[in-house]
Amino acid sequence: MEKYAFTINGVSIHSPKVFEVNNPATGELLGYAPIADKTHVNAAVEAARTAQPLWAAKSDEERKEILMQVSQVLVDHTDYLAQWITKEQGKPMAGPGSMFEMQACVGWTQVPASLDLPVEVVFEDETRKDEMHRKPIGVIGAIAPWNWPLMIAIWQIIPALRAGNTVVLKPSEYTTIGTLEMIRLMNTILPKGVLNSISGDGLVGAHLVEHSGVDKIMFTGSEKTAKKIIQASGGNMARLTLECGGNDPAIILPGTDMESKAQDLFWGAFINMGQTCACAKRLYVHEEDYERVVQTLDTIARQMPMGNGLDEGIVLGPIQNQMQYDKVSDLVEDAKRNGADIISGGEAMDGPGYFYPITLIGNVDNGTRIVDEEQFGPVLPIIKYKTIEEAIAKANDTKTGLGGSVWGDDIEQATQVASRIETGTVWINQHGAIHPMVPFGGIKESGYGVEFGLEGLKGVTQPQIISIKKPTVQTA
Ligand code: NAD
Repeated sequence: MEKYAFTINGVSIHSPKVFEVNNPATGELLGYAPIADKTHVNAAVEAARTAQPLWAAKSDEERKEILMQVSQVLVDHTDYLAQWITKEQGKPMAGPGSMFEMQACVGWTQVPASLDLPVEVVFEDETRKDEMHRKPIGVIGAIAPWNWPLMIAIWQIIPALRAGNTVVLKPSEYTTIGTLEMIRLMNTILPKGVLNSISGDGLVGAHLVEHSGVDKIMFTGSEKTAKKIIQASGGNMARLTLECGGNDPAIILPGTDMESKAQDLFWGAFINMGQTCACAKRLYVHEEDYERVVQTLDTIARQMPMGNGLDEGIVLGPIQNQMQYDKVSDLVEDAKRNGADIISGGEAMDGPGYFYPITLIGNVDNGTRIVDEEQFGPVLPIIKYKTIEEAIAKANDTKTGLGGSVWGDDIEQATQVASRIETGTVWINQHGAIHPMVPFGGIKESGYGVEFGLEGLKGVTQPQIISIKKPTVQTA
């Protein structure tokens, strides 16, 4: 069985310490991933530090050109990398699955690669001119999660490189090989040391975020880990962009025609088996529309084939790992004990694989665990409301604030409700509809800093002001 390598300074490095990577749909052993020790982390940061001034010295046009070549490598290896995503992460090749994730990787490479941050004149009068220039920060440590392993790594890597930083990335220990392989392939184009990878569990991540040679951390993952990273940044003063979890509410306004919108709502809640930071995780429905909405969602859920994502026609895969599977089962069992209605699903499926059916839960409210906690799985609690005020109050009754959505036929009314939802993004008649030009980030405990678009690119730069005194004009 093959042992995979990380890439440091353009070279594939094996480690004597490895861990098994298994397919969550079958349990099959896929290969061995290397575990970095402190020496590897030091070497990766050192390589990135050495490469950074030369990379930053390239012109914008040169860096753009190289990143467009990187996007071509992703296109050329789409099938290979998509197979890795499916085998390792579980999402199917078809539907909004691994091929879709690879298309996103290409888009989120080409768009930031083509953006510019021109010098801004922030003040000018007859005595002075003040310009703001955008400089790279230095070495970026990137820590990625397991749900969209390649796409989220790309979100962290590409803007950082575009701005002239260099990167050391650690993928999640649950989805390591595909990301290591993607970074190996990207290194066939990038100068050595510009993009490095190391792998292992949270301890390896901790070595990276505490390193004195790291200038900024881009993190996507849980609030718990984000708080540890905030503490670590007290040591090296690394700048932080933290993209954490959410408990996104979706509110359907009274009387909304959901027939035309239900597919979008279904995928807004269940894309990647609900294992998406900005999935709809709580659905608020007016009491008079409840039966109709539940019926529509249930009909869609029953039409979606679930299975091994390498098989044709499958659009829903397994949950990615045992920890997440147990969490989802535990939340559903807790809801049952507390009198919830299981509208569909609700029982773990026979193995092998971490398969759990799409589960719709009714007769629940804020104050129960399935509503208050991020399930990060294929379960949607549906909560009846009487007034829009009540729905808004319940939607905002959470410590997190990543995404949310409002569903309605009157866009003006939906926009008014949206403006009162306390989340970084509120979608109308769609959910989780991210775009590489549109800034995305959380508020409250969903993190801080944004990714994507010009604002995201600014986040991997530091401003430098160049302030010029104008010559005094002598008057006769
Ligand atoms: P996690 O926090 O357990 O792990 C994320 C990464 O952090 C992994 O690579 C892990 O090895 C590493 N890590 C663990 N301890 C560390 C430490 N002390 N220092 C440095 N790194 C450490 O999260 P997860 O379970 O992989 O991801 C799921 C969570 O991520 C969910 O809450 C989800 O909502 C969130 N998420 C957010 C976004 C977003 O863009 N906001 C996107 C995807 C996932």
